[in-house]
Amino acid sequence: MIPLIDLQKQYHSIQPDIDAAVRRVMETGSFILGKDVAAFETGFAAFCGVKNGVGVNSGTSALHLALLAAGVGPGDEVITVPFTFIATAAAILYTGAKPVFVDVDPDYFTMDPSHLEKAITPRTKAVIPVHLYGQMADMDPILDITRKRGIRVIEDAAQAHGAEYKGQRAGSFGDMGCFSFYPGKNLGACGEGGMVVTDNPEFVRTLRMLRDWGQEERYHFSLKGFNYRMEGIQGAVLGVKLGFLEQWTKSRRQHQRAYTELLSRHGVFIPQERKDTRHAVHVLTVFHDKREALRKFLADQGIQTGIHYPIPVHLQEAYRDLGYKEGDFPISERAAQRTLSLPLFPEMEASQIQEICRVVGEFINQ
Ligand SMILES: *Cc1c(COP(=O)(O)O)cnc(C)c1O
Repeated sequence: MIPLIDLQKQYHSIQPDIDAAVRRVMETGSFILGKDVAAFETGFAAFCGVKNGVGVNSGTSALHLALLAAGVGPGDEVITVPFTFIATAAAILYTGAKPVFVDVDPDYFTMDPSHLEKAITPRTKAVIPVHLYGQMADMDPILDITRKRGIRVIEDAAQAHGAEYKGQRAGSFGDMGCFSFYPGKNLGACGEGGMVVTDNPEFVRTLRMLRDWGQEERYHFSLKGFNYRMEGIQGAVLGVKLGFLEQWTKSRRQHQRAYTELLSRHGVFIPQERKDTRHAVHVLTVFHDKREALRKFLADQGIQTGIHYPIPVHLQEAYRDLGYKEGDFPISERAAQRTLSLPLFPEMEASQIQEICRVVGEFINQ
């Protein structure tokens, strides 16, 4: 069997370091925030080329708090894409604001800036570009359009640790950048985790208060906050893993090149890297009209696949009240029907990629 991802393999490759980090937290009893979290915040912010990081308990919490720190609330609109994980839209709804969608572009599946201007209204408070699959959204036009109108930009970089756009890292373009450390992400905790990175000290102060019940001084609640703090164990484990992230990203990129070369012989479409960017290759997706048949063919030969994501947010049952309908975002809808994620993790063997591509070829040629 070839799994979609293999977290055990990663653990075993760095087990002594991880075990020592977990033990240190157990011995010190620093279970919530604390020294290891603070050190990881500093380290990860530096990795992003940003001054500050605020560790929280999930990527969803990071998005929620970033929106609140940006002043988003009831009556506001926040523009994002429907071809994303549900958390992007959910976080907007948590604030009481309304998600407004614009379609993605057909080559890279990130926010199409040519639709952005038309979607802006006097209520638009923020825009959330999503660096889907680890591919950077086209930040220059998005920043051009938003900056002159005073609209905040919050990057959903949950899939894009270490991705770059014109030599600058994901998370460093917007007013704030939001990351997830869900175990399967490029940098994964041993549980839930997330972070907001930002250069703005005012946002940092607000974010730190909001994640900890709205207090700066103990039991003096000056904001209505949340229990969104990062756990000590997650900070310690993530701090260890951060040291390997660059090496893992290089492996992911190498695997993507191998896949691209082998699959291009079969005429299978893999989204390419946007020019002047560095793709973090969170998932390796191919697009195919007979996605379900291909998926089954691979499963029958022991190859696990995933679908990121089968239904765009605007067509999800729970989000019907937003008032969108089929046909509103044709690129997202077609992408959702055709996308298929193949196994990808840094520790993969070249022979596994060859085997997967051989089976894909068999399917194409049958
Ligand atoms: C994973 C993910 C999130 C949410 O992160 P969690 O840590 O699971 O809450 C948000 N946006 C995108 C695009 C994601 O992939």
